[in-house]
Amino acid sequence: MKQISLLGATGSIGEQTLDVIRSHPDEFALSAFSAGVNMDKAEQIIKEFQPEIAAVIHKDDAMKLQLASGRTKVVYGIEGLIEAAAYHESDVLVNAVMGSVGLVPTLQAIKEGKRIALANKETLVTAGHIVMKEAEKQGVSILPVDSEHSAIFQCLNGEDAKEAERLILTASGGSFRDRTRDELKGVTVDEALNHPNWSMGAKITIDSATMMNKGLEVIEAHWLFSFDYTKIDVILHKESIIHSMVEFKDTSVIAHLGQPDMRVPIQYALSYPKRLEHTRGSRLNLWENGKLHFQQMDLERFRCLDFAYTAGKMGGTMPSVLNAANETAVDAFLQRRISFLEIEDLIHETMQAHEIASAPVLEELQEADRWARSYVLSLLNKGR
Ligand code: NDP
Ligand code: MG
Repeated sequence: MKQISLLGATGSIGEQTLDVIRSHPDEFALSAFSAGVNMDKAEQIIKEFQPEIAAVIHKDDAMKLQLASGRTKVVYGIEGLIEAAAYHESDVLVNAVMGSVGLVPTLQAIKEGKRIALANKETLVTAGHIVMKEAEKQGVSILPVDSEHSAIFQCLNGEDAKEAERLILTASGGSFRDRTRDELKGVTVDEALNHPNWSMGAKITIDSATMMNKGLEVIEAHWLFSFDYTKIDVILHKESIIHSMVEFKDTSVIAHLGQPDMRVPIQYALSYPKRLEHTRGSRLNLWENGKLHFQQMDLERFRCLDFAYTAGKMGGTMPSVLNAANETAVDAFLQRRISFLEIEDLIHETMQAHEIASAPVLEELQEADRWARSYVLSLLNKGR
């Protein structure tokens, strides 16, 4: 029986992880979890799973929740998040919080020797060099939850990764795949939140529409699989049936296919190296799809992907700046303070203004993250 710590249990990946745990009561149990501000869901999770620890953001919420929680200990703040992540009884941390707040709890869980099932891509984007080094030092596996990385992980499985030449990530294209840049000018938040293939949290749905999500995934793939950026490609594939591919040196390509269902990669990251049944999943019958489509990626149409390759190749503090500027700009878009295309402009201006530090330590990364957020806010306050 694997004991699981789940950060971000009230979110999209969090709920699907709970569903996986629920489907396999003999394999998995929830020992600790975190919520942000959704106290109704937090209370339901405590009732159903009776974990030892529940972490929330605010002290007031923690005090109220504690009254309704019986023997579950309720903690709060970043210390609470770290306590839930590294809870001593847990074997695995599923990190499904949104944003760079996920980094320090992941690092702590690695130090405590937990297996990491990583959905929080910001952890590797902002501090890949630190996280991978610590995982190697502690002998800890970082298993991808992101569907593209789970696909690549499975394509590489059993093969010598040294024989692999190229990683090919597929991108659905998000809500505005078929629109030109001109047609993006007046798009609304509601239109942007309407993803054709996946139901996800708001921030990542916007990231899919700007293609920043794929950019963050390129950086994530660079760290997870030790591939140079020149050997990581992205292609548009609107059906999201091929989740990603690996090309080997004899030109063979191995692809991973399946219905778009995040419970599959979540479950695999928890059960690896075993595979468990997915009783509620639907099978892939390719004749029902009929056709699969592919298209070359246009970096002028999807500027955020270009920014991410640039930030990844520059390294140092730049990926943290890219990520923090993106989080702040997307938040401003969701609050209807800026237009869709201004997300790109804000990220670009912030990257250009940043004085990069190479080989940064954790504190320098956190400082770069704070700087980028306040730089974007200062641009916004200048009258955007
Ligand atoms: P959601 O927005 O649905 O959920 C985010 C979770 O994080 C919620 O539980 C939320 O709590 C919590 N949270 C948000 N901000 C904070 C904070 N400052 N401190 C503590 N907790 C916080 O996001 P998703 O589930 O869609 O995505 C989560 C992560 O997984 C992201 O990094 C995303 O990129 C990645 N991912 C998601 C995929 C998907 O299909 N959704 C696919 C691949 C990767 P509350 O709601 O209670 O406030
Ligand atoms: Mg993905």
